[in-house]
Amino acid sequence: MQSIETYDFTGKRAIIRVDFNVPLNDKLEITDDTRIRAAIPTIKKVLEKGGSVILMSHLGRPKNGPENKFSLKNIIPGIEARLGVKVDFAPDCMGEEAAQKAAALKPGEVLLLENLRFYAEEEGKPRGLAADATDEEKAAAKKALKASQKDFVKRLASYADCYINDAFGTAHRAHASTALIAEYFPNDKMFGYVMEGELKAIDKVLDNPARPFTAILGGSKVSTKISVIENLMKRVDNLILGGGMTYTFKAALGGKVGTSICESDQFDTALNVLKKAKEMNVNIYLADDAVCGNEFKNDTATQICPAGDIPDGWEGLDIGPKTREAFAKVIAESKTILWNGPVGVFEMDNFAVGSRAIADAIVAATEKGAFSLIGGGDSVACINKFGLADKVSYVSTGGGALLEYMEGIELPGVAAIRK
Ligand code: AMP
Repeated sequence: MQSIETYDFTGKRAIIRVDFNVPLNDKLEITDDTRIRAAIPTIKKVLEKGGSVILMSHLGRPKNGPENKFSLKNIIPGIEARLGVKVDFAPDCMGEEAAQKAAALKPGEVLLLENLRFYAEEEGKPRGLAADATDEEKAAAKKALKASQKDFVKRLASYADCYINDAFGTAHRAHASTALIAEYFPNDKMFGYVMEGELKAIDKVLDNPARPFTAILGGSKVSTKISVIENLMKRVDNLILGGGMTYTFKAALGGKVGTSICESDQFDTALNVLKKAKEMNVNIYLADDAVCGNEFKNDTATQICPAGDIPDGWEGLDIGPKTREAFAKVIAESKTILWNGPVGVFEMDNFAVGSRAIADAIVAATEKGAFSLIGGGDSVACINKFGLADKVSYVSTGGGALLEYMEGIELPGVAAIRK
């Protein structure tokens, strides 16, 4: 496998799949350029080593072809500000101009292609099918798109001499630019620094953790986390389960959970997790007490209740003080920590206390030498809200991709480079 460190980029054009899916405000200005900043080291490395760069990405979820609000043109000033190099633009990633500009690139130059998802071929999902389309019509549309997707991938590949995938956030998708294109570069494909960093951090946790290894899984539902729970049970010593899923477990065990979020169709799944954990010698920690509110709002009346004995009309919105202490103790004694999902409704300050306690305990353990990985959608928002992102070992940028990797699924974007 090639590496960006050792590959000779002299005089070569590198096409880099970056994740420039940044949030924009109404004026189409970037409100958070974390993803652009993350991609800069990879781009700079290629330029420093005598290559030129073609950047490709998606932005948002355009469903009907080009739309100004999804144009990557809007973020050019944001890229130039961070990169310190002028960025040229090809307003149609399949257009003649794209091919010409790519061919004319000189070492040190950068070309950005327009949003790949202006073409259905990027994702390979047919668009514009009638709501009452028959299965045959759907299959025919899919077949036609697969055929044109081949041309799409081939054309993108024709712009460059080598391919770099640096978009971990989309690595769980077998899209044209994240996986299929790699086939055209059997000896000239590699990960960028974002991908390398993510994979190193996650593999360290999943494959070779210092023990005890504790995973804290929160979030709202058991159903969306069950595959992660099952895969992690094979690896961890301690599994802390928090957030809304607490109440499915408590109810499955015969508790009263008031109006807390509760998936009654997941009771068997929950009981099975507890049974398996016992068989596998994994310590499971569930909340003992809960901060309950009688409405789903920040300034609702609250009371602390046993998490399995919540009065009617009240719902568990955060872990209680006893639980905060118990969870923090387990975390303090851990050498590897993985946190996915807040343990309460952290978006409301009054119910962010439990998640803050988890974050503080992780920071303290990290200071004592533990390796801590935070990732998967809301946990990142949570650690950022507390301003503690730089006090843990690694914050993953990949929401869905990280979750699938943790489920043990081989990510197409990773496999395409490794194979
Ligand atoms: P997930 O995307 O599954 O990680 O879920 C994250 C969401 O779970 C956040 O928006 C939290 O507000 C929510 N959440 C955490 N704890 C609870 C709870 N006790 N009740 C309802 N929602 C919760």
